Amino acid sequence: MIENKACPYCRRSLIKAENQDNSRSVEHLIPNAVLTRRRKNDEGDFYACRKCNSKKSNIDYILGVLAMGQSSDNDLAADALIKAVEKDNGATKRFIDMVHTARPTNEGTVHAEIPINAQELIEYMHYLGKGQYFKLEHKLYNPRKQVMLVKFDNKLALSSLEGSYTGQHKTNPFQDLQQNSYTEVINNGECLIWAKNNKFLFVFHNYTAIRVKVLSKNKKNIAKVEKSETYLYRYFNYGR
Ligand SMILES: [Zn+2]
Repeated sequence: MIENKACPYCRRSLIKAENQDNSRSVEHLIPNAVLTRRRKNDEGDFYACRKCNSKKSNIDYILGVLAMGQSSDNDLAADALIKAVEKDNGATKRFIDMVHTARPTNEGTVHAEIPINAQELIEYMHYLGKGQYFKLEHKLYNPRKQVMLVKFDNKLALSSLEGSYTGQHKTNPFQDLQQNSYTEVINNGECLIWAKNNKFLFVFHNYTAIRVKVLSKNKKNIAKVEKSETYLYRYFNYGR
C-alpha cells in the first residue's frame, strides 16, 4: 500500500475525514471486478479521492464484464454476461442493449456493440494510465506538461494478432508477455501489465487491451492524441 497524500487521478490533496469528495479511499488500480478471484495482497494499492474512486468504479464493473465476456474460456464468458444481464444494477441496461446488438459473423464468432461510449472509455483509460504512472514514477501525472495517448483493442484485433504472432514465432503472445521481465502478472495472467519508459499495456483475460503512452506536451503529441481520440469517438457511440 502506497501512503500518498494527493489523488493520482485529479491531483487534489486528500483528507482522512470520511464522506467528503476529497476523502482518501483505498484504490486498487486493477479492480476486483475484472478478476475472477479477489486479490490477497495490497501491493500497488494507493489512495485516491472518493470522487475519482467512485467514478472509476462504475466503469470498473463494465470493463470487468466486457473483458470476461471476451475470454477464450467460454464458461467464464457466458457466466459473466448472464450475471450482468440478470443483476439489477445501474449497468444492467447496457448489457441487455449489448445482447440485442449481437450478430453472428462469417468467422463463426459473435459481434456485439460494446456498451460504453468514447468519453467514458477515454476517461477510464486515463485513470489506468495515471495510476500506473504514479505507481512506477512515484509522482503525479501533470496535464499541464504531459499528454496521454490511449488506445483500446478488443477481441477482434487481439485474436488476429495472436494468430499472426503464433504463425511467426510458434509461441503464444500472451504466454510470452507473461514471461517478459517488464510484465506484472495478476491472478495467473487474468490481468497483465507491461510497463516500460512511460508506455503501458494492460491486457485483461487475453482479449481486451488498453495501451497508454505518457508523452510530453507539445504540438506533435497533442495532434497524435486528438487523432486517436477522434477515432474512439467514431466507434464508441453507446447512449449517444
Ligand atoms: Zn481524485
